[in-house]
Amino acid sequence: MNTENVTKEESLDPEDWQLMRNLGHRMVDDMLTYLETVRDRHVWQPVPNEVKAFFRQPLPMEAQGAEHTYRDFLQYVLPHPMGNIHPRFWGWVIGTGTPLGMLADMLAAGMNPNVGGADHVANYVESQVLHWCKQMLAYPDEASGLLVSGGSMANLVGLTVARNTKAEFDLRQDGIYASDRKMTLYGSTETHSSVQKAVELLGLGGSAFRQVPVDKDFQIDLPELESTIARDRRGGCQPFCAVGNAGTVNTGAIDDLEALARICQRENMWFHVDGAFGALAGLSLELRPLVAGMEKADSLAFDLHKWMYMPYEVGCALVRHEEAHRKAFALTPDYLTHADRGLAGGKIWFSDYGVQLSRGFRALKVWMSIKEHGVQKYAKLIEQNVDQARYLAMLVEDAADLQLLAPVPLNIVCFRFIADRYDNDTLNEVNKELLIRLHESGIAAPSYTSINGNYALRVAITNHRSRRDDFELLVEEVVRLGNTLLDDARFCRRSPG
Ligand SMILES: *Cc1c(COP(=O)(O)O)cnc(C)c1O
Repeated sequence: MNTENVTKEESLDPEDWQLMRNLGHRMVDDMLTYLETVRDRHVWQPVPNEVKAFFRQPLPMEAQGAEHTYRDFLQYVLPHPMGNIHPRFWGWVIGTGTPLGMLADMLAAGMNPNVGGADHVANYVESQVLHWCKQMLAYPDEASGLLVSGGSMANLVGLTVARNTKAEFDLRQDGIYASDRKMTLYGSTETHSSVQKAVELLGLGGSAFRQVPVDKDFQIDLPELESTIARDRRGGCQPFCAVGNAGTVNTGAIDDLEALARICQRENMWFHVDGAFGALAGLSLELRPLVAGMEKADSLAFDLHKWMYMPYEVGCALVRHEEAHRKAFALTPDYLTHADRGLAGGKIWFSDYGVQLSRGFRALKVWMSIKEHGVQKYAKLIEQNVDQARYLAMLVEDAADLQLLAPVPLNIVCFRFIADRYDNDTLNEVNKELLIRLHESGIAAPSYTSINGNYALRVAITNHRSRRDDFELLVEEVVRLGNTLLDDARFCRRSPG
């Protein structure tokens, strides 16, 4: 062998492990301090222009090293967060994460298994977590499931199984082209956009999703649903699925899931429940009756990164019929053949149950978090968030210049600032400006929605760090900002008279 031609072989491991160890210890310390002091900082601030400019740097061809790279992180990344770990973040439906969840993600990345299949422990951890999820939500233990990126993917998985199972032909082989009858599905107008997205991805066409009106409590109007199904049948469609909402994104409304289960049974339709956050109300004895019927779903989608407060990303899809679930996704070319023994053995191949082949070890943070706190603690926190929502609703109703815009069945409060001198259009503009100023003040971060055409400040509480006085401060600030805007020339001229 000609030794002169042998080049030095490279690796990405550190040359000096002690330096890396020191750096790692500092990172852990820095991040724990960061979490410990989160309340002292602004919820959110706009990303400064010089920081935006920093992220237009050219592609690094040469090494700058771990130490220097970490300094860049501390300077340019860490100080400019979304804000969702802050006690006064209540925008959209966004979770907060936990310290142990953060550390668990580090451990998972250190082991770095591919949880698509093969015989190794991560698959057993995920199976354990899925059993726990089923138990938590009183879902049948024979059901199959998998952890996914979030509710959107969980809805896609559930609706894929629904479509393939209810198709009157071999959908995987022949595609949706083979249908004689348009396959239609049903959900309320309050259903989350991810369902529409799934329907589009499944090739059914957005028009296949019949959006049924809601009643005054934002629950699906059942007589309207039944007459829409009947009309579609007469028109030659194949109604194949209904989506029930356990917690709508706008107001937290929960459809009558028992009734939906009955209708699906009678109509030979698949019953899918989108319980992204609301399903977790099932953990609480007090709140469980609200989601009764959820356990009858053929498929159930929910998130662990929202109301279980786990770090992004992790959601869960459960399917009552294991065989139908596997038939929708399993595809085993030679190079993925499962063996009886050896590394390619094992009975658990999650890649047979979803879209992803390579999958991360998201199960570890779920497993560790549930063990750390116990399920009762999560139940208490969920009840605490619901109590906080009721408390905020009460504060709003007690304030002369605030108006509650929707019922508060769960953890979402929609309200607005009002003043006699304004017409509705002006009120919408005032509240829009008010929300922006609230965000820019860094004091609190609700989000926005539209309730019956009214611009609503929307507070969704999936935050284990919020306290009652945070909501008192929110109300004070909204009233203060609203009154400041009363003097704003932009809004002064327009009044109903
Ligand atoms: C958040 C949400 C989703 C989507 O879940 P992701 O985790 O964001 O993908 C679906 N449905 C409802 C009701 C939601 O609140």
